[in-house]
Amino acid sequence: MKALNELRPTPSYSARWQQDFQESIRATDQLEMFLELETPLAKVPYPVFIPKPFALKIKEAGLESPLALQFIPSFHELDPSGFSDPIGDQVHAKGNGVIHRYQNRILYTPTEVCPVQCRYCFRKNELQQSDLDIFKSQLSRVTEYLASNPQVEEVILTGGDPLILSDDKFETILEAFSGIPSVTMVRFHSRTPVILPNRITPRFLEIIRTFSKRFQILTLVIHTNHLSEFTPEFLASLELLRKTNLQLLSQSVLLKGVNDSWEDLKVLFMGLYRNGVKPYYLHHPDPVKGGMHFMLSREEGARIYRDLKSNVSGVLLPHYVIDSVDGSGKKFALEF
Ligand SMILES: *Cc1c(COP(=O)(O)O)cnc(C)c1O
Ligand code: SF4
Repeated sequence: MKALNELRPTPSYSARWQQDFQESIRATDQLEMFLELETPLAKVPYPVFIPKPFALKIKEAGLESPLALQFIPSFHELDPSGFSDPIGDQVHAKGNGVIHRYQNRILYTPTEVCPVQCRYCFRKNELQQSDLDIFKSQLSRVTEYLASNPQVEEVILTGGDPLILSDDKFETILEAFSGIPSVTMVRFHSRTPVILPNRITPRFLEIIRTFSKRFQILTLVIHTNHLSEFTPEFLASLELLRKTNLQLLSQSVLLKGVNDSWEDLKVLFMGLYRNGVKPYYLHHPDPVKGGMHFMLSREEGARIYRDLKSNVSGVLLPHYVIDSVDGSGKKFALEF
């Protein structure tokens, strides 16, 4: 007799990474069991979401590790101080997931889904992990917007996390933008290569190869905050990405208790650079409600950045930026 699994073939659209996503830990009690904790975790009013292969890395690293602090809920999240929209995005929202703050580039959020729930995230009040299939903002509206705003040269896909979209949807988006002559650059900001490295599938790489010929430049900005995120699987996905024409950059958030020393940042940026990724942004933490325990003062941040600057070459040094609550955009460290 055949095993049940053989009788029920896996649908072709459900790749291993999508299964890992679907089987993620989604509740505090589930996480407690997985981590085999003796003392219960804080019951926080924000979602919990971690794919199991990554949760295993956290378990191995230990509950006090920089890895755990970024993803395991903490009682500090019950602190009611902070803002719900700490960067004032709503001021520039154009509908359909578009935020147009700068002349020549727009942010586009094709999904509100992320591969993980980061405890420090400034979107932690908006994200939903329940549905992989929320390609909801009508793409045609976005392309109409781009067609009537030819000053926009670059579309920056953020989220949520654009790499959580299926290959088909990803391809549909690139196809749509490549039909607009004024859009010559496309950029993705993503944490997925770190959290679900097996998302970098042969088909995904093929799509990247195809579309890197249709745009002047395609860029992937990888979000990573600590060297302990460099698992063998993440490094393997970087190696695959490097074989395409993608420009690889990084963005990190300065987080108290996680990476708040120039030494931690130096090894992170060296690790990235050695693996073909140029450090692009270091964000000062946002004063987000439920994430205030990651906050540093501007003076502390500036001191860490100054020390970093005198200990690494300019090639390794990202821009240190801070977002303003009023929606006026990022400011460079030297301005504050
Ligand atoms: C950060 C950001 C961008 C991208 O800015 P770059 O300087 O090009 O990296 C675009 N739009 C908004 C609203 C942003 O916050
Ligand atoms: S992946 Fe990015 S958007 Fe998603 S929860 Fe983490 S920081 Fe927030």
